[in-house]
Amino acid sequence: MTLDSKAAVVTGSTSGIGRAVAEALAAAGASVIINGIESREDGDRIAAEIADAHATDVRFEPADMSRPDEVEALVNACVDAHGRIDVLVNNAGIQHTALTEEFPREKWDAILAINLSSAFHAAHAALPHMKHQGWGRIINTASAHGLVASVQKAAYVSAKHGLVGLTKVIALENADQGVTCNAICPGWVETPLIQQQIQKIADDQGLSIEDAKVELVRHKQPSRQFVQPEQIGALAVFLCTDAASQITGTALPVDGGWTAQ
Ligand code: NAD
Repeated sequence: MTLDSKAAVVTGSTSGIGRAVAEALAAAGASVIINGIESREDGDRIAAEIADAHATDVRFEPADMSRPDEVEALVNACVDAHGRIDVLVNNAGIQHTALTEEFPREKWDAILAINLSSAFHAAHAALPHMKHQGWGRIINTASAHGLVASVQKAAYVSAKHGLVGLTKVIALENADQGVTCNAICPGWVETPLIQQQIQKIADDQGLSIEDAKVELVRHKQPSRQFVQPEQIGALAVFLCTDAASQITGTALPVDGGWTAQ
């Protein structure tokens, strides 16, 4: 299995799940453009670490996914560098928790922009290239919260359900073009994104951080184990193989049984 001649963009890939997906694509031989809101210096350092580990071309682009022009520029940077874009992983995401009536308006706008609209803007820019090539893979990091809801997550749940819907539309529009589009729906993955939620459980219940993690996972995930970022990376690579050419329009849970309940 090799993605040797493929060029990939992974949004929000300086940390967590996105970094693991970028690593997995690089390990499979793809040239990868990573992205995040870190400084140029930190982004370049992370790109160099991935490139050195996998002997492939990895570059950092500091585009802000809340800005449509910068999203488009990120896709164009891949086409400028490699003459193509084969794999687009829309992964950047943020979180904020509060009751709906207390939810700050600016947090709603930011979550919708970064977790949902950026995927539209990136696909809008990438699809003409993918159709021209007759091959493309769009993979959207949704969430178990793309399939079911939880309290205090109005913006996140709305954005992730929307992302699952967008996934289906792109899949249908391109089903005969060699371009697939799927959503991956992780359950709890231990990354910086969920640290505040772990801290809140620890504070509210007087638990240690380790016990708060157990408490967090126990409530939703029957496996009682975190999903590992590398497991999301492996699924993303599989979706890029010929074996997955007929998988399109799906929302694939990787959630230890969360959404089976
Ligand atoms: P993380 O905080 O570790 O990483 C987020 C990444 O997004 C970082 O690289 C950050 O720089 C980037 N980012 C944030 N704002 C950005 C912006 N405006 N423009 C560009 N990049 C930006 O988070 P993570 O847990 O790895 O989350 C990645 C994705 O996985 C998100 O879409 C998240 O919703 C989803 N997800 C996470 C979990 C989980 O439990 N951690 C579960 C399901 C889905």
